[in-house]
Amino acid sequence: MTAISLETPDARMEALQALARFTLDVPTRRLIPHLDTCGECLYRNGRAVTFPPTPCVKCKGTGTRGRGKCRECKGWAEPWRKAKRLPVGHVPDYGNPVDAGPCRACEGTSIVPATMYTRVPVAFMTELRPYLPVRVYRRGNLSIGESMLGMAPPSELWIGMGMGSVVDYGRTAKKFAENPEAATAEIADAIFADTHQGVSIADKDTNLLADHIGILLAPDGYTKVAMRGPVPVPSTAPQAN
Ligand SMILES: [Zn+2]
Ligand SMILES: [Zn+2]
Repeated sequence: MTAISLETPDARMEALQALARFTLDVPTRRLIPHLDTCGECLYRNGRAVTFPPTPCVKCKGTGTRGRGKCRECKGWAEPWRKAKRLPVGHVPDYGNPVDAGPCRACEGTSIVPATMYTRVPVAFMTELRPYLPVRVYRRGNLSIGESMLGMAPPSELWIGMGMGSVVDYGRTAKKFAENPEAATAEIADAIFADTHQGVSIADKDTNLLADHIGILLAPDGYTKVAMRGPVPVPSTAPQAN
């Protein structure tokens, strides 16, 4: 029997990591998903694995302790036991993976189609930066809606899933009070030095890239959100990049 490596060789891993997840169709501003690595087998060289049963150390493979079921291994009852892969009193031996043929999700290629839920690599985020200006909206004690009076309703400005919130008890607000340009640049740099799912920066149905990224600044932190609509004229804070 030929031994099959369950570890992805470095050169193959490098090629897989370098797959083009997305490109931007500049004239239409649409984010086009291409290829992604298979989440099932990326680190296993395209192979599926299974784990042989090993007797539970707590109940020594009996499945019972005291007057009841062994709590250590009873959780494995479903669905492993139904599939007759795990007898009573046994647990999967994670230290001893066994090759189970090519990965079914990608047929062993470790490559699957990218979707809008695929993460945009940092290198491509950097390429997108000129197309995604960052704009600060100060909330103060106003609601988001109140701070945007005169603009379209927030629900029409938001796109995507949001890029996360930061609660820092006023640290960022203090930075903005001292040096708004530097504070904006710092947040913008962090955004583009990170990966984000396609749906965080583009519309999941139309793939249309956001027009800008809004930093919704509140007294106790901020929220990052991809927004549509032209970048509004800066009023309270300058715009980065
Ligand atoms: Zn047990
Ligand atoms: Zn796979």
